[in-house]
Amino acid sequence: MQRLGIRRKTLIALLGVAVPALIAFSALIILTTAHILQQNAGRQVSTLASRSAQGLAELVDHSQTTLRTMAGSPELDAFRTAALGGNQLQLKTVLARMEQSFLGWQKLDPALQAIRLIDPVGHVLVKVKEGKVNQAAGPPQQPYQMPMVHFVGGRDFFQAALQLPQNSILISNLERGKIDEEEAFCPAMVRFAMPLLAGNKRVGVLVINVWGDQAGRLINRVIAEQEGSAFLVERNPADKKRNGIYLFHRDTACEFGDQTGSQRTVLNDYPPEITTAWMNSDHGITRDPRTRDMLAHAFYSPYGQQDRGWVVVVNAKRDFFLGPLATIKRLTGLWAVVVVILATAVSLFFARSLTRPLQGVVDGVRRMGQQPQERIRIAVGDEVGFLAAEINRMADAMQEQAEEKLRVEEQIRTTEKLASIGEMAAGLAHELNTPLGNIKALALLARKGVAQGGCDRESLQGDLDDIADQASKCSSIIGGLLSFARRSEGVPASHDPLTLLQDAFALVRLRAEKLQVALQCTETGPLPRLYLDGDQLRQVFVNILLNAIDATPGGSVTVSVQAEADRMLFRFCDTGCGIQAEHLDRIFDPFFTTKEVGQGTGLGLSVSYGMLQGMGGQIEVASQPGTGTTFTVILPVNTAAENSL
Ligand code: ADP
Repeated sequence: MQRLGIRRKTLIALLGVAVPALIAFSALIILTTAHILQQNAGRQVSTLASRSAQGLAELVDHSQTTLRTMAGSPELDAFRTAALGGNQLQLKTVLARMEQSFLGWQKLDPALQAIRLIDPVGHVLVKVKEGKVNQAAGPPQQPYQMPMVHFVGGRDFFQAALQLPQNSILISNLERGKIDEEEAFCPAMVRFAMPLLAGNKRVGVLVINVWGDQAGRLINRVIAEQEGSAFLVERNPADKKRNGIYLFHRDTACEFGDQTGSQRTVLNDYPPEITTAWMNSDHGITRDPRTRDMLAHAFYSPYGQQDRGWVVVVNAKRDFFLGPLATIKRLTGLWAVVVVILATAVSLFFARSLTRPLQGVVDGVRRMGQQPQERIRIAVGDEVGFLAAEINRMADAMQEQAEEKLRVEEQIRTTEKLASIGEMAAGLAHELNTPLGNIKALALLARKGVAQGGCDRESLQGDLDDIADQASKCSSIIGGLLSFARRSEGVPASHDPLTLLQDAFALVRLRAEKLQVALQCTETGPLPRLYLDGDQLRQVFVNILLNAIDATPGGSVTVSVQAEADRMLFRFCDTGCGIQAEHLDRIFDPFFTTKEVGQGTGLGLSVSYGMLQGMGGQIEVASQPGTGTTFTVILPVNTAAENSL
């Protein structure tokens, strides 16, 4: 896994703290706000519903007061007296005055749609409707022998009103009156009836029709259209046709379904769990499961009954009462974005203030890698500063150690040089000593022979030949030494590596045959040409092959050549005596030899080593004493130089 940098770690740490805290905080605010808003909205709509129900009660009270006042007016007292006395003339005058009185009442209170005075049988004696007197006509009717406007005696409402005790009032259903000779209904209204008694005698019934539009306006004003709606519902389980009908609704098409034939009732429009509450409790709050709107209701019964009356319902739209929540959500979201940006900026700032000095340390350490005397230049006094100071101290100590090591190594090198010069001088002396001694002995022998005069020409010739042989041996030793010392650059040219190897094979073949060593060569794949001094490489091959043959009498020497990427490998494997572990470090030293005196000069490998270095190559050795030795010559394949030819 890729390791995270300080910046990312700081960012993750800060965001890791900020984001969950932010989410929790936002959720808390939103939930709390929603709860408070719902509670407030619940209280508000509940108050609205209760106030509306209160308003309806006041309207009804007002109508009842009006009716009572009318019933107690002098005109009605005069009627009672006249009705009890049975004086027709007086009665006629009273009724005529009553018409005017009713007109006056109506003018005073426009909510009064109609006022009727009805005799105990049901004949309407006086009727004022919408500012006009409806004239009584036709034959006189019992019990007062007065003409009637029309007859209502068969109606339940009149019958019930007639039975009422004194001063009590009967209130009808809220409904739309049928307009005479018209299809249409008049606006909603409600009737209030009061029995008229003279002593114990029932002399008639006073009925007022009150327009319902005041109640309708009151309901429609409860809540603004964009905020929700309000409607008045009838609770009347005893009358299935009326139970749940809308009495007032902003959509007038659904009002009074029982009269207009509309199917719209709250029982059809709302889920039962809601309407059950409306039809049974005095007030309460429910939520519409479909819209999540809040619904508050308040019950009022003008009839003084629990199972018959009017339910004011206020429907507050969810969007309205939870409207501020959307703003809070927006603000919380905005706040979250601001906090995340701030957290990111702060974390980047902190990470920067942390990584900048660290980067200074890294740069300083890098500079120290290139220039050991360089030191970290950092001025902060915090932990990073301490770290830099410690690294500087460590670098000082290491530099001192390195310098000390160099000094010691230099001393060792000097000692080794002296030792190897001594060894070389000893080897050289040893090598030269034998042929020089031979030359001296031969020369002395020849001089003695010449001085004695007994020396024949032939033996002198032989001695001189031997002297020449020994001298050329000395010069070959000196030549090898010179070529090691000179480490000549060589003359590079393009060569086929196999040809050079075959040439070397040819040069050592006689020796191999003499020691019965089988020489083999294997190569893998096509080999590129080499750009180097061919004579030198051939000489290297000869030196290695001669050593291998010398170490492997009766065995085999196998050479394999392999080209790899930009280098070529020559492996010389023999099955000979191997090299002792303690000699492995020394075989490339000049004059190191394990061969018998006169057999080896100890210069072959050291000269080869120097030549290969000059070619940019190297030589490696691996050996198992008693099993064999492998020398590997590694040379660069310089294609660029090759192409430039
Ligand atoms: P010289 O052959 O004159 O001894 P070199 O420098 O060529 O000098 O070799 C040094 C020594 O390395 C040899 O004397 C021998 O002991 C050891 N040597 C080199 N090649 C081999 C080999 N193939 N097997 C065993 N010993 C080896």
